[in-house]
Amino acid sequence: STARTPFIAGNWKMNLDHLQSIAFVQKLAWTLRDAKLDTKAVEVAVFPPFTDLRSVQTLVGSDDLPIAFGGQDLSRFDSGAYTGEISGAFLKGLDCRYVLIGHSERREYHGETDADCAEKVAAAIRHGLIPVLCVGETAEDLERHGASAIPVKQLREALGPVQRGQELVVAYEPVWAIGSGQPATPQQAQDVAVTLRGELAELLGDETGAATRILYGGSVKSSNIASFMREPDIDGALVGGASLQLDEFASIVQFQK
Ligand code: PEP
Repeated sequence: STARTPFIAGNWKMNLDHLQSIAFVQKLAWTLRDAKLDTKAVEVAVFPPFTDLRSVQTLVGSDDLPIAFGGQDLSRFDSGAYTGEISGAFLKGLDCRYVLIGHSERREYHGETDADCAEKVAAAIRHGLIPVLCVGETAEDLERHGASAIPVKQLREALGPVQRGQELVVAYEPVWAIGSGQPATPQQAQDVAVTLRGELAELLGDETGAATRILYGGSVKSSNIASFMREPDIDGALVGGASLQLDEFASIVQFQK
């Protein structure tokens, strides 16, 4: 089977300013080091606000502190008269490895469409960033169309510009499970993950389908992470609220213990 290194990512959303980010990332790194985290067995990433990225970059640059990081969004343009936007080139320049695309809060509060996501995926790839494409159905979608239909559509439309063999990460985040304290069941998440993996194989070839990490997101905590990680097609988690609590997040990262 293809090795998909488990991936635990914290989406800080609009929390922790640049000073708080320094304290948090330092403590996280120390905690994981003290716990002798096997850094080959799990990849840890944080997605701080843009204004924190330079601070985070200066802290986690060494092999000692292998915490990856990325932006929560990027512009579909490379540069120019786009007030308030952030270029993928700037993220890459700060050593971001990843970038979130199409988080449900971007879709809901900023009107991001699947076509926008496709342009952002293309922009991320142009700048050497690994897209972490977020997909997921609302409660209403779930009732009307079942769990997979909307995530599959979102995946298909956003991955239009992607070539076979491109590294990307997919985060399945049912909107009804985000911040609600009501996670999907591991079986529900696994079922959608299998469907998404099949779709990836169809769109990008069997190899890319087998190699792409699919994360679950939505009310993940230290008490439920292991049950998701046990599922064969779930390769990690995108964690919101619990990623802001140091001990919780450190426990989630150590889901094997
Ligand atoms: C998220 O917003 O990506 C998320 C999964 O949030 P939470 O863990 O708080 O449900």
